[in-house]
Amino acid sequence: MNIHEYQAKELLAAQGIPVPMGEVATTPEQAEEIARRLGGAVVVKAQVHAGGRGKAGGVKLAKTPEEARERAEAILQLTIKDLPVDKVLIAPAEDIDTEAYVGIILDRASHAPVFMVSAAGGVDIEEVAHTNPDAIIKLPVDPRYGLLPHQAYELATKLYTDVKQQRAAARILQQLYRAFIEAGASLAEINPLITTPSGEVKAIDAKFNIDDNELFRLPAIEALRDESSEAPAEVQAREAGLTFIKLDGNVGCVVNGAGLAMATMDLVKYYGGDPANFLDIGGSSNPEKVVNALRIITTDPAVKVILFNIFGGITRTDDVANGIVTATRQLNMDIPIVIRLTGTNEEIAVKILNEAGFTALTDMDEAVQKAVALANGEAQ
Ligand code: GDP
Ligand code: MN
Repeated sequence: MNIHEYQAKELLAAQGIPVPMGEVATTPEQAEEIARRLGGAVVVKAQVHAGGRGKAGGVKLAKTPEEARERAEAILQLTIKDLPVDKVLIAPAEDIDTEAYVGIILDRASHAPVFMVSAAGGVDIEEVAHTNPDAIIKLPVDPRYGLLPHQAYELATKLYTDVKQQRAAARILQQLYRAFIEAGASLAEINPLITTPSGEVKAIDAKFNIDDNELFRLPAIEALRDESSEAPAEVQAREAGLTFIKLDGNVGCVVNGAGLAMATMDLVKYYGGDPANFLDIGGSSNPEKVVNALRIITTDPAVKVILFNIFGGITRTDDVANGIVTATRQLNMDIPIVIRLTGTNEEIAVKILNEAGFTALTDMDEAVQKAVALANGEAQ
């Protein structure tokens, strides 16, 4: 789950990290009012689940409340990385001396949270990671102990030479680690962590990715979910108990089991196609799940073909077959469907499908090749 910058900043502030706090506006008038209340110059910032807002024109300084209204009006009309902007954060503007990057990611390779810090922070950090990776210092953390004080200090010395700033940064890194753990995050970053002309160290941008599997035990974090900022298909899928990730291709995939879903997507790519989604209908699938899955996939106009790949273990393939027949009747679909299924109750499933006019395949390669050919407009 993604959260907005203003929410991420609240998580940081709750740990004691110095963050200039602002307020969220949904109209230019509100933006003006907030700017007037804050007094002084402000920064108007698009609240969307995307980075690189600065470069997309979604972060603008404003000296007066009137200017804040104008900036908000322009930013509220933007679409950043396909995400329409419907909220802006109005925060006190800071004078910036330096911009650093500090972040933590859960790194599968090291089986641990890994800190990444760089004195070369700001809007070009991706560029730095690409062209000068040595400018980013990494440190894996033993989750049994967290970030120890000497480790925090060591990292802070890579950012600043001033002792006061080093101490401030060391404290911030430990606070960031606590925020990361308590939010069940897979990523937590501050970019930029600034120093001001008077020598203070502050977080002026923050980003968290929350591990979806942590949410059931963290109701306060789940409450930060903003469905209006999520892909509608992903919202529907979550409500239907399906694991769904939208992708850019045109082969819709309905698969049971995450491993098989990954293998299916690999095979689609291998045969020259492009998956439109990752979708795991889960272990014991009832026909209802299949109906929901098809409804969600067919809302994507890019989808040219739907590929079912079902391995019947606990999943009964006749349940899936019934789901396909029900769904295609209900949804009045005109997209071709390629079905591969094998395993539990396979004979019954094939019979159900054949009676409804579908062909069922058992070979995975054959099914994927057929689906890719249909998606690419080659006759089959
Ligand atoms: P991002 O582009 O989505 O990462 O948005 P940021 O919040 O990081 O803003 C991008 C850049 O705008 C920062 O790296 C700063 O250089 C600049 N910026 C953001 N807030 C302020 C501010 O309060 N004062 C000044 N002077 N610049 C700011
Ligand atoms: Mn940033």
